[in-house]
Amino acid sequence: MRRIDEYFVEQLFHDAICKYISQRRKPDKIHVTDLVHECLRFSYFLHKELPKWKMSEAISLWIGQVIHEFKLGLKYHEFEVEWNGIVGYVDEYDPDLGLVIEKKTCKELPRAPYEQHVKQVEYYYYLLKKNNYKVNDIFILYIDVANNDIRVFRVIPRDLLIIEKEILEKANLLKSFLEANTPPPPIATRFCRVCPFYVLCHIS
Ligand code: SF4
Repeated sequence: MRRIDEYFVEQLFHDAICKYISQRRKPDKIHVTDLVHECLRFSYFLHKELPKWKMSEAISLWIGQVIHEFKLGLKYHEFEVEWNGIVGYVDEYDPDLGLVIEKKTCKELPRAPYEQHVKQVEYYYYLLKKNNYKVNDIFILYIDVANNDIRVFRVIPRDLLIIEKEILEKANLLKSFLEANTPPPPIATRFCRVCPFYVLCHIS
């Protein structure tokens, strides 16, 4: 019989938040977030197994997810949009205004939006346009949970054809690795130190 102690409760919490973070993933679809990550190998492993994040990272992601679930009051919240097997969840969307808002939590407000986040909203823009939804204004709202502050950036998307070429190339590449059941090569970045699949890469 399993021993019920402090460690048991810790593990219960840890497992629960790891599951919660991954709850929205659809294993048979390519997610926009798969395609904006620097390392395709990480996205590949996300399709193959439930990541066991380190506790500190799991808590950050969990807080981020909880904040994402807070609605800003636009018509759609976490609006699911799909094209060509690629699925995205637009944080906040108003189809009449053509307004997209992506919320991001951070521990320090950036001076400019991160490239990865800009790509993410560009890919949402692409999926929305392909589904004939109106998009006039796109913003990223950073919420600094360490210093209780916010900062908003407007994003002007690149040309739709350029975005289309990029997103389809990445999606097809990821699909081909998934179908071959072979992970893409590792791409060592600062993210590796918190990556739940670190042991599968043996990066020193
Ligand atoms: S440890 Fe680094 S290289 Fe390996 S999957 Fe994670 S992010 Fe990619």
